[in-house]
Amino acid sequence: MDVFTKEQRSKIMSSIRSKETKLEKMIRKELWSRGIRYRKNVTGLFGSPDIAIKKYKVAIFIDSCFWHGCPIHYRRPCSNTDFWDKKIRKNILRDNIVTDYYIQNGWIILRFWEHDVKKNSSRIADEIIKMIRKRHSRKQRYNIWIKRLDGNEDNFVH
Ligand SMILES: [Zn+2]
Repeated sequence: MDVFTKEQRSKIMSSIRSKETKLEKMIRKELWSRGIRYRKNVTGLFGSPDIAIKKYKVAIFIDSCFWHGCPIHYRRPCSNTDFWDKKIRKNILRDNIVTDYYIQNGWIILRFWEHDVKKNSSRIADEIIKMIRKRHSRKQRYNIWIKRLDGNEDNFVH
């Protein structure tokens, strides 16, 4: 069940470019080395998660400190401030829409900041695997877990 109209959905989808960054590669390598198999660049999924493990309904997003307005590292460019304010606000709003979509559809959604991935990609992979195990054992209390390693952590109990 889609919470958006067809027009809204395609607009959101097209505004989120699929990307293949160094950071995603780092995480993928870690997951792969731990035996986690997944599809990369899953185009059919809403918001184009950076990594998606369909089997366990786990969607992973790596949020760029600049484009997603990291509270620690985002620095507003000196010129065109109005443009940038609007742009970043729109991105954050879109992140929330995407997050809501996965929550409503029973997925585990994990969002990590770029700076956390850079700092310790193997710890991020550990977190992802922990969630997959919880899902797998059916013991998980949390349907959704949005985790920021900077201490900003939100759990949604369903
Ligand atoms: Zn950051």
